[in-house]
Amino acid sequence: MALRQIRLYDDPLLRKTSKTVNQVDDKIRLLLDDMAETMYHSKIGGGLAAVQIGILKRLVVIDMGQGLIKLVNPVIINKEGTQKVIEGCLSIPNKWGKLNRPASVTIKALNENGDEITITGTGDLAKCICHEIDHLEGVLFTDFVEEYLDPIQ
Ligand code: ZN
Repeated sequence: MALRQIRLYDDPLLRKTSKTVNQVDDKIRLLLDDMAETMYHSKIGGGLAAVQIGILKRLVVIDMGQGLIKLVNPVIINKEGTQKVIEGCLSIPNKWGKLNRPASVTIKALNENGDEITITGTGDLAKCICHEIDHLEGVLFTDFVEEYLDPIQ
């Protein structure tokens, strides 16, 4: 495994649409492992999309305290309710904002073995899933922020 460099701020790659993964092979699994290592190394990140390490593939890793989730080609198939959340992003360090997200989301994806999985997340997990899937479309949380918090000193 290897730590990867995180793309920051107005790096134009962060605005690109990521491509569907056609085959979940060892190369993809290694990439997911590198993404997880990079996310955990950051200490503050609960999720990372491949585009954030410069790779335009529809891959996401998430750990909001319930264990590591690796997602290939995730798609939201249901959203319910709304919640007010506070979000940050590893690509936009030290910036936190308030925005609205669904209270619950259900996604379909492939896992690292290429098997289809369905996951429903609520609360922080729903927020994180939405944030990471937005990355795959070149969308950043700052596009939705209603109010920024004071920077953490
Ligand atoms: Zn992010």
